Parts: sequence; structure tokens; C-alpha cells
Amino acid sequence: MSIALNLDHASQPARPQAQRRTSLVGLSKHELRTALASELGLDEREAKMRGSQLWNWIYHHGVTDFDRMSNIQKGVRQKLADTFLLDRPEIVSEQISVDGTRKWLFRYRDPKNPLLPPVEIETVYIPESDRGTLCVSSQVGCTLTCSFCHTGTQTLVRNLTAGEILGQVLMARERLGDFPGGVRPDDGGLVPAPRGSGGSEGDNRAITNVVMMGMGEPLYNYDNVKNALLIASAEDGISLSKRRITLSTSGVVPYIEPTGREIGVMLAISLHAVRDDLRDMLVPINKKYPLKDLMAAIRAYPGLSNARRVTFEYVMLRDINDSDADARELVRLLSGIPAKINLIPFNPWPGTNYDCSSSARIEKFADIVNRAGYASPVRTPRGRDIFAACGQLKSETERLKKKDREALTSA
Ligand code: SAH
Ligand code: SF4
Repeated sequence: MSIALNLDHASQPARPQAQRRTSLVGLSKHELRTALASELGLDEREAKMRGSQLWNWIYHHGVTDFDRMSNIQKGVRQKLADTFLLDRPEIVSEQISVDGTRKWLFRYRDPKNPLLPPVEIETVYIPESDRGTLCVSSQVGCTLTCSFCHTGTQTLVRNLTAGEILGQVLMARERLGDFPGGVRPDDGGLVPAPRGSGGSEGDNRAITNVVMMGMGEPLYNYDNVKNALLIASAEDGISLSKRRITLSTSGVVPYIEPTGREIGVMLAISLHAVRDDLRDMLVPINKKYPLKDLMAAIRAYPGLSNARRVTFEYVMLRDINDSDADARELVRLLSGIPAKINLIPFNPWPGTNYDCSSSARIEKFADIVNRAGYASPVRTPRGRDIFAACGQLKSETERLKKKDREALTSA
């Protein structure tokens, strides 16, 4: 059973004339000042001051209305509203799983061409006793075609902009009451309140961690992901610690080193196979960047240490990659790398040919890896009832569309 909330009232219909204004969400501090200087004609000193005020209102207070910016004079607020936008995605639906996981379907209009059909992506919130993790999408669909991943069957529609990536974090923070003065939603006890120990606001954030593990390959949208994560981790805004942000890649080797050097977040690698012949089939980007090159890039990841380990994700596929020999080869492959291993039970989706390994097989595999000294938690699937688990993001979008279509045809 899951709960689906009707959020029609929360949706903000796009105003065609609004699309011509520049969105400030997703601009770096420097870009924000430049926009204020060029579009409002502010001198350097004022652009700097107004830029800091706006930054604080947008990211710390989560304000979407210039009129609420009480330390800015009314006339200036009006000029800002005439020139700029503080837009967020439209919420198409919000679903809450029996285990408290939430999934949002967000809709975006194309910032450059509002006449193009809007796109939809999914964002998932996973509350646990000691943390609350937001799983964020970087692309609409994916150009890669990992054979066990449902997102991979949806062709790439487009990259999300930095503002659209941040929009997921801002909307989730708002819905979870994470902005100052925000109200926590009443889920009738469904959502365990996370103790929350992260971020500079300390102890009671709902979102303590962000993972770039939603739809898309973040390193094929590097610049936008970088800008969004630098804003999410900037001290005077959302201020998430970089240790609490994890970027997961299927192995886009040339962007691994820049990720560590320029963004500085934690790295996760979708490994899933320990031999090139099998990885070529499961994660086809392996044909371009084989295991040897991938492992060399990981070993050279800036900032890698025992305190900052790489996470290796390994999906457990019955009779495909789950033998004792695979487990032993995994240990050998990772030797010398400060690593954590995440064993992910395969989440099925309609039309897939794969099965999940049995619990006994997963336990035996985990045992071999544990004995070699690696922490290898088996990731409990979360939100399966609302199709929010790893690799399942896509189908719900289609199901909703089908439902919408049915509603339309029966009306
Ligand atoms: N594109 C990036 C990030 C998004 S996928 C990447 O591939 O790393 C997030 C994780 O879910 C990846 O490790 C992915 O391999 C895994 N995954 C995909 N489909 C899955 C499925 N059906 N069951 C379990 N995990 C899956
Ligand atoms: Fe794309 Fe990641 Fe899915 Fe592969 S696993 S198809 S890279 S989203």
C-alpha cells in the first residue's frame, strides 16, 4: 500500500510571459552579481550586497517570492520581480511508501523554449533512523543502456540545468519542512523523524545527505551537476557538507578526477561486474572505459583516504555476477583502495530478463567480502511499492501518464 497525495493546489502553472525573465536559482554567486549588474544596472558594491541578500533568501530561507525579502526596499523588490524568476519545478505528484520513502514527480518547462513540451523527472527521499537521504536526478532519461536498469530503457530527453537539479533539493526541503520556520508534514507516523546529524544547521534537518543516484548519468552533465553541487554545499546557503554528498557514476573515466578536484564530493562507482566481458554487457560504457582504466582513475581520485572511501555499488543478479568466484575477484580488484561495497538486491521492473539473487546467495557473497575486511552492507530496497527503488525510476512516470490518459478518455 502506498499513499498518493493530490497536490493540484501546489502546482504552479507556468506563466508564458514569466519564462522570459532570468531564473536566479542555479546561478553561482559570481553569476548572480553579474546578472544584477547587467540587468538592473547596479554598481559593483550594490550588486555584491544584493547578491548576498538574495543568496541567503533563496537557499537559506527557501523564499520564492521577492516580496518576502524584508531587508530589501520595496522598490528594489519590485524591480527584481519584474526582471528575474525564483522558479521551482511543478509537483505533479507526491507518493509516500509504507516504509516512509517519498517520491516526487516533478515537471519542468524548457528554460530556453517554453513552447517545448515539459519534461518530468523523479526525486526520492529515504528517511532512516540516523539520516535522511535525497536521491536526485541529473538527466531526463539516460544515454547509457545498462541492461538491468529501467532508466536506461528511456532514451535521453535532455540534461537538467543546475537550477533544475537544485530545484529538486529546494522543493524537497520545502515539502519536508527543512527551511527555517518550516512545518514538518504530518504523515500519521509513517515517516520516522530522522535524528539528523548533518549540515551546518546541525541536528534536525530532514535531508542530511544528497546522492546523485536518480535518473541519468551525472558525469554526462558535468557542468550543471558541478554548479548545482557547489551551490548545495556552499556554507551560507543549503550548506550540506561535501562528505554528505555522493555522486554515483557508471564510470565516465575522464570526469572522475575533475569531480574530486573541482567538486570534492564523495564518489560512488556502479561496478556490478569484475570482468570486462560481463561488464561490457551489464554496463556498456565499459567498452569505452574498461576496468583497467576505471580502476586507475579511482585510485587517483583526489581526496581519497580511509575517512573518505569510494563506494562500489554491486547489483546482485541471479547466476550472472553473484558467484563465490565473483566475490573473491571483487576483493582482489579493490585491493589497496579505501572502499565500501554496497550490495544492491536487483529491483525488478516489467520486461526485465534478470532475477534477484537469493538471500542465501547474497549472504554468502557478503560474507566473502566482509571476511576480506570490507564493510559491505546489503542495501535494503526502499519504496518498492511506489516504484522508488534503485533502477526503477521511470515506470511510475509512464504509469501516471497512462492513468492520466485513461482519465482523459473516460471524461
Ligand atoms: N547513472 C548513475 C547514477 C544513477 S543509478 C550510475 O549508474 O551510477 C543509481 C544506482 O542504481 C546505480 O548503481 C545503478 O547501477 C543501480 N541500479 C540501476 N538499476 C537497478 C535495478 N534494477 N536494481 C538495483 N539497482 C539498480
Ligand atoms: Fe544510466 Fe545509471 Fe541506469 Fe546505467 S545504471 S542506464 S548509467 S541511470
